[in-house]
Amino acid sequence: MPEHELLTTRDGAVGGLAIRRALPHRRRRLVGPWCFLDHLGPADLIPPQTMRVAPHPHIGLQTFTWMIEGEVLHRDSLGTEQVICPGQVNLMTAGRGISHSEELVPGMPRVHMAQLWIALPDALRAIPPDFTNYPILPVLRRDGIVVTVLAGRSLGETAPTRVHSPIVGLDLFAPGAASTVLPLDASFEHAALVTEGLASLDGEAVGPGTLLYLPPGRESLGLVWQNRGRLLIVGGAPFDEQVLLWWNFVAREPAEIRRAAADWNAGGGHFGEVVGYDGDRLLAPDASRIRAPG
Ligand code: MN
Repeated sequence: MPEHELLTTRDGAVGGLAIRRALPHRRRRLVGPWCFLDHLGPADLIPPQTMRVAPHPHIGLQTFTWMIEGEVLHRDSLGTEQVICPGQVNLMTAGRGISHSEELVPGMPRVHMAQLWIALPDALRAIPPDFTNYPILPVLRRDGIVVTVLAGRSLGETAPTRVHSPIVGLDLFAPGAASTVLPLDASFEHAALVTEGLASLDGEAVGPGTLLYLPPGRESLGLVWQNRGRLLIVGGAPFDEQVLLWWNFVAREPAEIRRAAADWNAGGGHFGEVVGYDGDRLLAPDASRIRAPG
């Protein structure tokens, strides 16, 4: 078994701003149940440059937003209106269906964030939708590095974020030169994404745009920074369900995706309505040719 694997992110755009998409990767669809990872920024914004993601639906997943710089207004079909600030996580459980919009708060000079999706296990895919903002997460210092526990448990701290599979999510910020050996749960697979600066991960020099994947069985990860830098780590028990990810939906069968797309495009139905967004909602693309996974 290889010690690790290096995967290159893909460039894309979301809501008008450039992103790097680390997951899904054609060689690595999932890391535990983490099935989607977009990294946005850090970027300076020149007005009127902004990010606006119009109302769109989700099923079968949790969206997990980690805010590092800037503020984003979230609205959803439960009636939630929530600004997420730096150091906070927004966790939206789609379950059987929800819709939401996301907009950068006007006047933000900079933005830096990550949005991830967590596939819900089959038995919980149809749970009622939910939204929770987590303003306070455990923060600890280790070898000069500021560690925020975003999900699961690490270094003796447990995140409050309510997830439905054994996972971990960590943000590591090195204000300057630092090094540490981070203990890992050997039953998990992990991935590390440099979000700022350069770092040596497991002996590899890595910058933004590369995802380092670690298979299960690893008990630690060596980290070295020569200068200021930041790292996002996600992990989880290998997810033994074949998931089908299409547009904003996570399902198992093409028929579920086609039904969800048709329901949304026909007017919302059980996806509800996002009130207060100034603009049209996003429509699902043609789902007729979607194929079964595998
Ligand atoms: Mn979304």
